[in-house]
Amino acid sequence: MIIAIDGPAGSGKSSTARAVAERMGLRHLDSGAFYRAITYAAMQRGIPVAEWPNLDTDRLESFAVSAEPADSGFRMLLAGNDISGPIRRAEVNALVSAMARLPAVRTWLLGTLREAATRADLVADGRDIGTVVFPEADLKVYLVAEADVRARRRLEQMGLAADEVSLAEEVGRIEERDRADSSRDVAPLRQADDAVLLDTTHLTFDQQVARIVELARERDPRSAP
Ligand code: C5P
Repeated sequence: MIIAIDGPAGSGKSSTARAVAERMGLRHLDSGAFYRAITYAAMQRGIPVAEWPNLDTDRLESFAVSAEPADSGFRMLLAGNDISGPIRRAEVNALVSAMARLPAVRTWLLGTLREAATRADLVADGRDIGTVVFPEADLKVYLVAEADVRARRRLEQMGLAADEVSLAEEVGRIEERDRADSSRDVAPLRQADDAVLLDTTHLTFDQQVARIVELARERDPRSAP
């Protein structure tokens, strides 16, 4: 079984996907973590952003980015070291869309992400999971929420105060990332035609998780407890 959850930045895809996976005994595949890991690797190597479009498969392979199954998801590694923490830094947030729009990077990752599905039933989240990576997913959900709600949740998740100034700045950052992700030529962020739209603006976290689990069980009664 594959459940695809897509949506804009800060819509709560990853935390929701993780909770759905735990509730249903599936593995969570956070595809954004792969784009973040490659971005972080390029930054660590000091490769200027202007040179990223020249990265080819051999160069990407040489970064030694990998993912290993851990708990109910995957842990991102760089040359064998756990980089789950650093890939969430603000510097990576600011540059990851520049990496994710490169066709060579997307093609290279597509194989890796699909490979993961050959080994386990998944809840995968990202921007193009339902449209490109797993177009045959059993259930596709497109998660949205108003930008200020997404910004507030993101600040809270990072343990930062959601005062007026930081909230406005965070809204600016996530809207910028949405613009970059939606307007790129390859695999832009968009709702798949057969995805269920779920607006979580007025839902609690538990309610949104419960709704997706309910939808998945309607699609595949075998997944009911
Ligand atoms: O989901 P997360 O915020 O961790 O994703 C980081 C970035 O990775 C996104 O802003 C987007 O540029 C890219 N991404 C993507 N396709 C995916 C998942 C993430 O382009 N399936």
